[in-house]
Amino acid sequence: MPRHVTSLTPRELERALGSPSRVAPALRAIHNFSTRGRLPESVDGIAKHPWDAFLRSHTVPSFEIVERLVSKDGTIRLVLHLGKDPVETIIIPGAARTTACISCQSGCSRACRFCATSRLGFKRNLEAGEIVLQVLLAKEEAEAAGLKTPTNVVLMGMGEPLDNLEEVVRAIDVLVAHPLPGIGARHITVSTSGILPAIRPFLSRSAAQLALSLHATTDEDRLALVPHNRTWPIRPLLEEIRAALEDDGRLVLVEYLLLGGVNDSAADARRLSSLLESVPCRLNLIPYNPVEGLPFHEPSPESLSAFASVLSGAGVRTLVRHPRGRDVAAACGQLAGSVGPK
Ligand code: SAH
Repeated sequence: MPRHVTSLTPRELERALGSPSRVAPALRAIHNFSTRGRLPESVDGIAKHPWDAFLRSHTVPSFEIVERLVSKDGTIRLVLHLGKDPVETIIIPGAARTTACISCQSGCSRACRFCATSRLGFKRNLEAGEIVLQVLLAKEEAEAAGLKTPTNVVLMGMGEPLDNLEEVVRAIDVLVAHPLPGIGARHITVSTSGILPAIRPFLSRSAAQLALSLHATTDEDRLALVPHNRTWPIRPLLEEIRAALEDDGRLVLVEYLLLGGVNDSAADARRLSSLLESVPCRLNLIPYNPVEGLPFHEPSPESLSAFASVLSGAGVRTLVRHPRGRDVAAACGQLAGSVGPK
């Protein structure tokens, strides 16, 4: 059984504490107090002996906030050290809701050419309790900043979630627990760079949403951007998702990073709409966020809007993901765990 209190599912808490009636008070204590580094010594509704034994055999994950930067658009970027490993958590305020963007690895196990995290290299997989902890911190930060409490969680921070499947699935099981953290499974989105063999296991073991970083419309182009496209090319990947979602009710969120002059032509837009024809999906177009030292550019406003019109015209539900927190390097692809604005 895991040691971090924030990684325990309700069923495990019941087993550890010896009674179903102790689960809700334990969840409240764990998810209200873990960010303070320790849990209360007594909890209403849990007898002294089982709680003492529980505290002795479990730990609260330790962390240090080494940087907190607030963008002029209100996005908050936290750089945490978990042990000595850097991780980033982003709090994104919106008109309707606040979203917590969290990390599942320190660094990343993949080598996407356009992403700052990949240049940091891979440090380690996070434990489920460390993934959950970031949502608790995001709640606390949102509250302190007078924002709505985060109701949406995206695993789009550092790391490749499907390379850390066990801990990610466990973290989702914890995040949806009632009464706390109480995040709706459909309000959790896990974004993958396309680890084909883990897609079905993820969809069958979790009720969360899947997002796929597609980013190109031919294998040749995708290979130049996402090296593991060699192992899992575009068509088998989309076919796997289509088949897995049959009779499922969920859609996949397809993410398409637009790199000016690289993958933003009218021909790309047409190829993308035909690739997506049989895939139950929504599409997010993500204009490139600059990463120092990389040779890419944003798409021009004209090519972005032309691209979006082709897809919308083909009946694909398309949204442009406007950058948030760029000035503090908090936007998609800019997370490299460094302190201070880049
Ligand atoms: N490893 C996961 C999560 C990555 S972050 C994945 O690959 O899906 C979320 C999104 O930001 C991904 O679609 C990722 O490809 C995209 N991204 C990476 N670098 C970017 C950049 N420089 N500008 C804009 N989006 C970027």
